Amino acid sequence: MKIGVLALQGAFIEHIKTLRTLGIEALEVRLPDDLEGLDGLIIPGGESTTIGKLAVEYGLIEPLRRFAQAKPTWGTCAGMIFLAKDIGHDRQPILGLMDITVSRNAFGRQIDSFEVDLPIPVLGDEPFHAVFIRAPVVTAVRGSAQVLARLEDGRIVAVQEGRWLATAFHPELTADSRLHRFFVHLVAQQAGKKG
Ligand code: GLN
Repeated sequence: MKIGVLALQGAFIEHIKTLRTLGIEALEVRLPDDLEGLDGLIIPGGESTTIGKLAVEYGLIEPLRRFAQAKPTWGTCAGMIFLAKDIGHDRQPILGLMDITVSRNAFGRQIDSFEVDLPIPVLGDEPFHAVFIRAPVVTAVRGSAQVLARLEDGRIVAVQEGRWLATAFHPELTADSRLHRFFVHLVAQQAGKKG
């Protein structure tokens, strides 16, 4: 199994390291050709405006859309913004795939970053120690998109829609690899279906 990590900007190295500790072949994706032969893709946190701008510059928008329509794709933080169908405006390029509305920098300037023990039922009883950095939240979930996690105040911070996964926080910055294993499982399932 080969999983790519979009490596235009942001926390891609940490995702690669986590995947490799799980024994997965992890590759950096910078150009359309790099998507060839991958079974899944992670879009990391960083700055979604920069990631979008570079993706346009490198001719990656359409290839990424085509890839994600066929293979499991997981966006964390900026990656979640990049995957969403609706971010409330059209001033930055996005892939526009997941049937969710995302609000950027939803916690405001006062709370730049914070960490919480987040219940994520699909991962088991033990809460997930989640690191939020200038994080977005999901303000609406439509169609077959399912909520995987909410903060105590009810705000949605993790969603799955079929083969797509989106998390508002940074699971690659903690030692807990359960979300990466959850994604690897999605990729394995999908690869298995094909053949
Ligand atoms: N605030 C960033 C954005 O809007 C996301 C932050 C992150 O990925 N940690 O793209």
